[in-house]
Amino acid sequence: MPDRQTKEHETVIHGTPVVDGIAFAPAAWTRRPPLPPETAPELPEDKREAAVEDFEAASKKVAEGLRARAVSAEGSSKEVLEMTAGLAEDRGYLRMVKKDIMAGTPPIQATIAATSRFVEMFEKAGALMAERTTDLRDVRDRIIARLQGVSEPGVPHLPYPVVVMGDDLSPADTAGMDPKDYVAIVTEGGGPTSHTSIIARQLGIPCIVAARDLSEVPDGADVLVDGSAGTVTMGVDPDEARALVQEDCARIQRIRAWKGPAKTKDGVPVQLLSNIQDGATARLATESEAEGIGLFRTELLFLSSAKEPSVDEQAADYLAVFEAFPQGKVVVRTLDAGSDKPVPFATLQEEFNPALGVRGIRVTGQDPDLMLHQLDAIAQASAESPGTKVWVMAPMISTLPEAEWFAGLCRERGLKPGIMIEVPAAVILINKFMGLVDFVSIGTNDLTQYTMAADRMSPHLAEYTDPWQPAVLELIALTAAAGQSQGKPAGVCGEAAADPTLACVLVGMGITSLSMATSAISSVGATLAHVTMAQCREAATAVRGARDSKEARAVARAALGLS
Ligand code: PEP
Ligand code: MG
Repeated sequence: MPDRQTKEHETVIHGTPVVDGIAFAPAAWTRRPPLPPETAPELPEDKREAAVEDFEAASKKVAEGLRARAVSAEGSSKEVLEMTAGLAEDRGYLRMVKKDIMAGTPPIQATIAATSRFVEMFEKAGALMAERTTDLRDVRDRIIARLQGVSEPGVPHLPYPVVVMGDDLSPADTAGMDPKDYVAIVTEGGGPTSHTSIIARQLGIPCIVAARDLSEVPDGADVLVDGSAGTVTMGVDPDEARALVQEDCARIQRIRAWKGPAKTKDGVPVQLLSNIQDGATARLATESEAEGIGLFRTELLFLSSAKEPSVDEQAADYLAVFEAFPQGKVVVRTLDAGSDKPVPFATLQEEFNPALGVRGIRVTGQDPDLMLHQLDAIAQASAESPGTKVWVMAPMISTLPEAEWFAGLCRERGLKPGIMIEVPAAVILINKFMGLVDFVSIGTNDLTQYTMAADRMSPHLAEYTDPWQPAVLELIALTAAAGQSQGKPAGVCGEAAADPTLACVLVGMGITSLSMATSAISSVGATLAHVTMAQCREAATAVRGARDSKEARAVARAALGLS
């Protein structure tokens, strides 16, 4: 949208932009009812069994409702709904509530107490599990609503399109949303990698997170949402707003009509790849315009494995991915255990600061057999799918000996070695690192976290965990330049690659491939098709002079002719 001059009678609220697009519709707040008191008079003994039955019926209905929605949902929405339904029927959770009820606690209070205990356990287990506490609280609120005989909380269903607003939407709230009914999402909390952002990207609707003053917007007020500027404006003239939405439709049409392989307007090819985690998600990627897999997050296969899977078991999992791309490229990332991805057989239990602890290559460095077994399994699967171009990279590399050790092990097995660039130390010595391996791939989620010293899971630091931060862009540019000068591929596989405007900037810096959630491929491809390589280069140069992320976005959009 062209930079609008704010009029005197308008009120603008700012947040962190996550998904581009313009929407104009009434605000519909999703507010959770206040929690009932945590204590209540004890249940008489003769009422306890009936209360257990009430609780069982309520939790069953919640799980059934979520599963029914999962049937008609697709992709990550389906996964989220199934996962949340699974929590509503988790045996440990149900057992805990039932035990409390049999001891005299009324079902609502027993549900509250068991949820608090589970939340505590999840939080202790690390950041990835901690993210699921939103799902747990959501299940709690749904069960309580069922016990009270009222409808389950969720996003409001209105007979006209709305802009959904909330603190931070629960995954089950957002899953299965139809973009015809919900034209934008704006949250007070959340962050660029939160569930809300992932789902909005999948739906292709504008999304803004961390809009701190959002509560100023009353329910039902007409708002103009600009997903690329990160603004929510009240008081806009409706005719002007509708005209802006209309203009944005051309961009949406371009995305729908786009077909790969990706290239810029002047025909420079750009490799677009998918981020996946198993055979099923790899097969989904084959239905998109992805040319291959740029990040196979192997640790996600093993999040609940108490013991290390055998080489044959691992090889079977990897082969399922390779077979989805029998002639394509698959970049396998070795186990990134630790911190936000605790893998029971590989992760240390107690660390004060797990993001700075034993994670990624450091885990396998302490227990080299884990790495040797995994590389054996990758080599075995690769031999069984000889047409697949298998590349292997290690996460969290920060020292040259780590990279040297890893590259040697890969080459001994005939595998092509690479490293992830996620730690500023790797960029500081990028030319030396680049000399040791065949390719690099920048994990912008962690590179941003470590450059800005800002926890990527924090809902309070969205401004810092923004890959548009000039310091982060500078490190990406240095890495891309080293790749160019040594003639080695330098890709990006963090969330930054899924941002269509930033994708153009990355290409302009000399990044050779972009790997992202499969759902983001069309919007990135369509945006690249709309700009020339010269514009991408101009944008890449312009962002390096920006003083903050807002200015970086603005100068990039101007150089690309997107504003
Ligand atoms: C990253 O850090 O950007 C990345 C791609 O790895 P992950 O998100 O799995 O840590
Ligand atoms: Mg990472």
